[in-house]
Amino acid sequence: MSRLVMKFGGTSMADLERIRRVAGLVAAEAANRRVAVVVSAMAGKTNELVAWTDGAGEAAGNLGPSDEEYDAVVASGEQVTAGLLAMILRNLGVPARSWLGWQVPIFTDSAHGRARIDDIPAANLIGALDAGEVAVIAGFQGVTRGGRLATLGRGGSDTTAVAIAAALKAESCDIYTDVDGVYTADPRIEAKARRLAKVSYEEMLEMASLGAKVLHSRSVEMAMAHGVLVRVLSSFVEPGGAPGPGTIVCDEEEILEKRIVSGVAFSRDEAKISLFGLPDHPGVSSEIFGRLADANVNVDMIVQSHARSEGAANMEFTVGRRDAARAVEIVKSAQSAIGFEEVAVDEEVAKVSVIGVGMRSHAGVAKTMFGALAEKGVNIQVISTSEIKISVLIDAAYTELAVRALHAAYGLDQP
Ligand code: ADP
Ligand code: ASP
Ligand code: MG
Repeated sequence: MSRLVMKFGGTSMADLERIRRVAGLVAAEAANRRVAVVVSAMAGKTNELVAWTDGAGEAAGNLGPSDEEYDAVVASGEQVTAGLLAMILRNLGVPARSWLGWQVPIFTDSAHGRARIDDIPAANLIGALDAGEVAVIAGFQGVTRGGRLATLGRGGSDTTAVAIAAALKAESCDIYTDVDGVYTADPRIEAKARRLAKVSYEEMLEMASLGAKVLHSRSVEMAMAHGVLVRVLSSFVEPGGAPGPGTIVCDEEEILEKRIVSGVAFSRDEAKISLFGLPDHPGVSSEIFGRLADANVNVDMIVQSHARSEGAANMEFTVGRRDAARAVEIVKSAQSAIGFEEVAVDEEVAKVSVIGVGMRSHAGVAKTMFGALAEKGVNIQVISTSEIKISVLIDAAYTELAVRALHAAYGLDQP
């Protein structure tokens, strides 16, 4: 019998009424397949738990997302929903049990708060599935080799689901959420966004990494590496109804419709750091970015320009907003070694990106982007490109305007 993984996000698990609907969808699949279900905490629960750790951290002065106890707290939301769904399935006459990360076990590295799954010995799980039981697995969590709970980073239940699908060699990993697929842009921002029937792993990975939170970027990376077929579907179906076709994430070769641009994504999680009056000689970049790398601060976009005075340069780069204060501290503490005059940080920025595999073979994609933004009077602060995406950093106040202008400029609102 074939195996299927079904994952339900926070809004799908928001209360008992919703969990009953989820149980209905699971029961229908479990009638003719072996089913493992991965669940998120109820909507809003993880935020509440994180806020508690912030409060406790202030008091104790030592908690944060990289702390073991942060993970002990924030992993608890998924324990509740896994248990509740297993109970409701049993009440429906469907044999089921809950599985926490350590019970599977889902082994991770010890990077608390953003751990990576490194192994899932699946024998126990397969035994339970073969005995006809639905396995309801708590998403977002795993266990380190040292026996501590670890979480996978916000949105990480998608990654749990894909990792379980790979370990079980499941025929599909169905991600049920509050939208009925992957759209050309976040449908909450662009009402004219359209559902994509299929999207390639590469494009989905860029979209997720660049802010489209419909899938956790690591889940796409893992699906691509293990050839897991991912489907994004809506859990919001009438009782007894079936989900629509959703979006299939698959290899590029399987997509017949050729598009130049497939989607527009945005992220407000950026901060721009500017260094003014740098000496313009070899070794300066190495000095700055070496120090940031040593402190585990990820740098994304970078531009360097000549300053007005002879032999001096300015540098702008972006980091995650969460890392901004730390990054400033690091460069300030090395001011004399680096040799800049002034540092400034701007958190009111957003990164807007267009993504499409068609860019590899088509010229003019950047021209269309810059033209559309210019027409709306949106100033571009930093640009970065890769083979299949172009990103620009702009004033955060123009995010929605820019997303909609680009969506229209590439004809994404046209069928
Ligand atoms: P879940 O709780 O099910 O994991 P998320 O909130 O993490 O759901 O992800 C679903 C949300 O992702 C949608 O409600 C939508 O607003 C947002 N989203 C952002 N970009 C896109 C996109 N390109 N296509 C679909 N949804 C998107
Ligand atoms: N509950 C976790 C979060 O809110 C994981 C997830 O939902 O994917 O980030
Ligand atoms: Mg999610």
